[in-house]
Amino acid sequence: MAQEKVRIGILANKNLQEINFKVIGNGAFISDQKSTWISSENSNIQIRNVGGMIRFTSDTVDVSCTKISLQAGNEGYFQVQLTPQSRKLKYGETLEIKVVNNQLQIVNVMMIDTYISGVVEAEGGPNHELEYYKAQAVISRTYLLSQFYKHIDDGYNLCDQTHCQAFNGLPKHEHIMVNSAEQTKSLVIVDENANLITAAFHSNCGGRTNNSEHVWSRPLSYCKAVDDTFCMKMPNSNWEKRIPVQEWTRYLQSKKIESSDSANFAYFPGEKEVYYREGDTKVPLVTIRKDLKLKSTYFSAHQDGNEMVLIGQGFGHGVGLCQEGSIRMAELGYGFEEIIHFYYTGVKIIPYQYIAFFKIE
Ligand SMILES: [Zn+2]
Ligand SMILES: [Zn+2]
Repeated sequence: MAQEKVRIGILANKNLQEINFKVIGNGAFISDQKSTWISSENSNIQIRNVGGMIRFTSDTVDVSCTKISLQAGNEGYFQVQLTPQSRKLKYGETLEIKVVNNQLQIVNVMMIDTYISGVVEAEGGPNHELEYYKAQAVISRTYLLSQFYKHIDDGYNLCDQTHCQAFNGLPKHEHIMVNSAEQTKSLVIVDENANLITAAFHSNCGGRTNNSEHVWSRPLSYCKAVDDTFCMKMPNSNWEKRIPVQEWTRYLQSKKIESSDSANFAYFPGEKEVYYREGDTKVPLVTIRKDLKLKSTYFSAHQDGNEMVLIGQGFGHGVGLCQEGSIRMAELGYGFEEIIHFYYTGVKIIPYQYIAFFKIE
């Protein structure tokens, strides 16, 4: 992988017909492939889809073309606010814009680490320790390189949605996010065969992570259940949900579990289970979680009058790295490599440039 740059399809779910950017910093270079103009600092530029063509308007230029590219000046960026209520987003380096499927397609071309710093903030949340962000940076770089051609038919590498990895442009907390990318430069996670791993993560495992095969039916050698005490007193460690008794029994009946059985009204699995069992019938807890929109598969249930009270632990699928456990580990002084090795069994952290050498051997 010689590329140092990455192409990200941004605002990919917005069905954009028109977008307005403000030029921040030392002006910007605008090019329609024939000519190049300069847009000055703090100028506003407007890009519209007019009958499948790009109509570009700024203080000095008004042009129609098939494709336009905007290059930010040194330290500069393009600022956009999609609605008066939404937050201002900043995009750096280069934007390439054309009309695809009768809407604007915007591709942000940037250095890999610029992209990583934005993903770390979007996926990792604000106000945590650097070592936690460094673990997130290595995970997002691993994902990027393992999925580098996911959107190749669309003309870019990844989109900015959770379909790939969330990316909302340049990070607000710029310093720590950029550090997380730079201080882990090139590092990715590989398994014992030197293949990039599927670096799954979730918010809170509830005290024990899950084997991947119990959630996605695909075993991954490095996603093995581990006991995790680090996440126990974090914001997403506990939840409660109340469901009308009727709804609960109707649901169990739909899964061929008899509602008359008193066990259904006092469900205490003790440890983390894969199935909800009643006699010979078993229902995968991942199915129950999805159907009843529960935060996790790790819960007990008891009856309280007309309601069933579900008391649960954790938030998310529970496979791979537990974010809130990692946040706590970083607070306690663990380094990003220790965090990664704690949640992913038997992996190695190496610069991605080494992968080719491993493969030749
Ligand atoms: Zn995508
Ligand atoms: Zn955990």
